[in-house]
Amino acid sequence: MKTMKQIQLTDVRKFEVQEVPIPEPGPNEVLIKVEAVGICGSDMHSYTGHHPFVHPPIVLGHEYSGIVEAVGENVHRFQKGQRVTSEIAVTCGQCYNCKRGRYQLCERGKYLGNVGIDGAMAEFLVIDAERVHAVPDNMTPEQVSMVEPLAVAFHAVRLSNFKVGDTAMVIGAGVIGNLTAQVLKMAGVRTLVVTDVVDARLELIKKQGADVVLNPIKTDPAEWVRENMGPEKMDLIFDCVGNEATLDQAINTARKGTEIILVGVPPVRVPVNMAFVQDRELIVVGSLQYVAEDYVRAIHAISHGRVDVDSLITDVFSINDYEQAYAAALDKDRMTRGGMKVLMEY
Ligand SMILES: [Zn+2]
Ligand SMILES: [Zn+2]
Repeated sequence: MKTMKQIQLTDVRKFEVQEVPIPEPGPNEVLIKVEAVGICGSDMHSYTGHHPFVHPPIVLGHEYSGIVEAVGENVHRFQKGQRVTSEIAVTCGQCYNCKRGRYQLCERGKYLGNVGIDGAMAEFLVIDAERVHAVPDNMTPEQVSMVEPLAVAFHAVRLSNFKVGDTAMVIGAGVIGNLTAQVLKMAGVRTLVVTDVVDARLELIKKQGADVVLNPIKTDPAEWVRENMGPEKMDLIFDCVGNEATLDQAINTARKGTEIILVGVPPVRVPVNMAFVQDRELIVVGSLQYVAEDYVRAIHAISHGRVDVDSLITDVFSINDYEQAYAAALDKDRMTRGGMKVLMEY
């Protein structure tokens, strides 16, 4: 039996390198050889034991690039040697939301590198062919690993009521906030304001096309919007952080009737001013993951140079240096210096 190396999260902050059999693809599955894998915020939560749904043992990694190694008997869309990536969710196809195309909300979903399916911190992984997407050869493994987070950004914008020419604020200029801002720019936002407490991140998104960047430590965004924007202020506010301070900022900055899209993952309970939500008819929408259409758009946008993901890949490690890679991802100083995505390569 052929074996492979996998790096399993066995406990909080504890990885173990294991030699295991290469998984066999089932009839509707694809076996993928991993080229590169990114570290996501959710991976860091899993690693530090702060993810509400992820429990070791599990092989992490869902932002990845790979090459088809083998396909199951019913899979005709892919062949060995093709470059691919995949969505995270394998879903039941039977529940209410699955039947209506909102399969990211499946009642019985399994999630690559999170729940029920081992992820890309292994030489090979197996995933449902339904969720696999071919990628053009002009994309580097690093760029392909950014398709997943970019799809999150596309989904948030497409789920919102954004209309070309609207004004928008993006809270948080980390990877998801940066990409959400870039998608809004591409979609024809009129005035794009991005806020973050890290100046290096603001400088980057400013270069990439944000009209105004604000650091809430120095400038109160709600006040700035009141003084500098027209009566419509912000049509939409994307909270790509999701903590008490950012939700407060979103609610306080909103005019009456503004839509707030919650992209960041908040803690279970957040005390915020719900009286404003009611009194101002604020629309608060949660945005989770993505569906296939978002992947199609994300792959196209990267391969055609419409979105800049290269500037976001600031730290690349060998997969053998996974400990250093996770340490870097968790290093707050690296973030302050403008560090964004940490990737590991095979
Ligand atoms: Zn992710
Ligand atoms: Zn389902």
